[in-house]
Amino acid sequence: MTEHLMNTYARLPVAFVRGEGAWLWDEAGKRYLDALSGVAVCGLGHAHPAVAQAVCQQAQTLIHTSNIYRMPMQERLAADLCQLSGLDQVFFCNSGAEANEAAIKLARLYGHEVRQVAEPKILVFDGSFHGRTLATLSATGNRKIQQGFEPLVSGFVRSPYNDLAAVEALARANPDIVAVLVEPVQGEGGVRLPSAGFLPGLRELCDRHGWLLMLDEVQTGMGRTGQFFGFQHYAGLRPDVMTLAKGLGNGVPIGALLARVEVARLFVPGKHGSTFGGGQLAIAAAQAVLDTMRAEQLPARAERTGASLRHKLRQRLAGILDVKEIRGQGLMLGIELGRPAASIVQRALDRGVLINVTAERVIRLLPPLIFTEEQADLLVETLGTLLEEGL
Ligand SMILES: *Cc1c(COP(=O)(O)O)cnc(C)c1O
Repeated sequence: MTEHLMNTYARLPVAFVRGEGAWLWDEAGKRYLDALSGVAVCGLGHAHPAVAQAVCQQAQTLIHTSNIYRMPMQERLAADLCQLSGLDQVFFCNSGAEANEAAIKLARLYGHEVRQVAEPKILVFDGSFHGRTLATLSATGNRKIQQGFEPLVSGFVRSPYNDLAAVEALARANPDIVAVLVEPVQGEGGVRLPSAGFLPGLRELCDRHGWLLMLDEVQTGMGRTGQFFGFQHYAGLRPDVMTLAKGLGNGVPIGALLARVEVARLFVPGKHGSTFGGGQLAIAAAQAVLDTMRAEQLPARAERTGASLRHKLRQRLAGILDVKEIRGQGLMLGIELGRPAASIVQRALDRGVLINVTAERVIRLLPPLIFTEEQADLLVETLGTLLEEGL
């Protein structure tokens, strides 16, 4: 009975009732291998004992007080995130879109107050995804997501992804640009990896023009790509602003905006806020996630499992006509096919494996960071069989 739910999702005909690690069980007791993690959310897997315990304990102690009061738990998590990222200050919110919305507001403040620009612009990229609030869908580089919601929020300048020459040309034509918002790897856009020089090149352009480098690490952050944050694949590179969400709470809603203090200090009381953002329950979950990821070195594990999974996929899928490219970083993987691939999701589900297709023809794999080699083998074998059967 879905008639009382708004029709915003094309839902698959399955409901899960229980999970453990990389496994989920449906109402009939059938078991599924989860190679999607609720779209890069449950990096520690389902029902992780450390997260479950933190949430239970916190719920029995204190769920919410308000940002009107100090929260030592929030201060500690912020300090940990800053120590891990090299950034200085954190604002907590509840989702990726909210984190990006806050980043966009911060960039505009920077434009007005530091750069003295009357109408500050933010450079964004084709194929990007930044969320579904009005400002973040306006920043998103996908017409389908914007269609029907015009007038869009103004103040965005668009560039092709992975094309520094195009960015330089836009810089010359738009003296009002004050920031760049970019995903280190485009997720929804089809697991598109930039060339090695793209992010360092953007950093250089940002330094030269006085722009903020703002990384949307909502999907790439929290160990997903094999480093704690996607930008850490580039020696010496540091963003000015970074957003996190998805993997941060392992399923408990939490987002975060991080920034260098010179920028973060522009947010003074009255400029931004959130009723729920950084509440005790979500903070307890995120602290448990972070502590576990550090103790078990899950980013490094994701790097190893991801490399091995890519290798196994290349071997198993070699010679299959529809397979154009296998790519990825850590446990963020894409298999680009020669034609639309949506139907493979249901066929994988029938075989008890959860995968996703994005950008029409890219199979996207986002297994939990705790994925084992045996689980990787099962995933690869299932995909091999399905792709041999054809699309
Ligand atoms: C998922 C995603 C968002 C939006 O996050 P929500 O929590 O759904 O609002 C923003 N940016 C990127 C890169 C994402 O993958």
